[in-house]
Amino acid sequence: MRRCLVAKESKVPHPLSCNCGAVQGFVTHPEKRLNRSICYCRDCQSYAYFLNKAEQMLDSHGGTDVVAVLPSALSITQGRDKLVCMSLSDRGLLRWYARCCTTAIANTPRSVKLAVVNLVHSCLGRAPNALERSYGRVDMRLNARSAQGHVPPMREHKVSSLARTIKALIVARLDGTYRYTPFFDVDSGAPVSVPEVLSQIEREQLLKRLWARSCIPLCLSARGIRQGTKRRRQDTR
Ligand SMILES: [Zn+2]
Ligand SMILES: [Zn+2]
Repeated sequence: MRRCLVAKESKVPHPLSCNCGAVQGFVTHPEKRLNRSICYCRDCQSYAYFLNKAEQMLDSHGGTDVVAVLPSALSITQGRDKLVCMSLSDRGLLRWYARCCTTAIANTPRSVKLAVVNLVHSCLGRAPNALERSYGRVDMRLNARSAQGHVPPMREHKVSSLARTIKALIVARLDGTYRYTPFFDVDSGAPVSVPEVLSQIEREQLLKRLWARSCIPLCLSARGIRQGTKRRRQDTR
């Protein structure tokens, strides 16, 4: 029989929910989050297309706002049976979402012993500044080379954030709290849902959709540059 351990206490908490409300939970002690990042990698972008949620999940540069917490800081209070996962490859992250309404919930490594849960912003509420209030500012940007267009510079805290995360993972592994997770069966270490792994053809189809989207702003900006140049030429006459 499958046995899942979940965090016992749920103090305040930042509510977590899928769009339709069937999956509910909390992040206990949001202030203890490991880091907050924006990831622009093609996998995260492809995932948004897989769920047909690109408009909701991706910012104007194709970034996804992600909050990393320990699994023991997460409490799913309702709809755990609705959590399913996919992976873009047989070694890729497990990407968990609510099957009721395809809301992205979190990404996790494939091993239960790597105790990090990367919560996707789409399940953390839509109120303005909700993430800032609970988790503070974005610590870092990841894979900015895959961003669409130029991403404005920002002050990052990459080294300290990663150091904090690694330290927390080691502690969770040593004290056994990595076992308090709603995503894995603690006895077997297997995910509670069999991952749907995409084929290469399916991945390529997602990438085509992604490129189609990224071409539109590029076309517009190229047209804008051409029009600007034309205008400047006219001005100088
Ligand atoms: Zn739902
Ligand atoms: Zn990513």
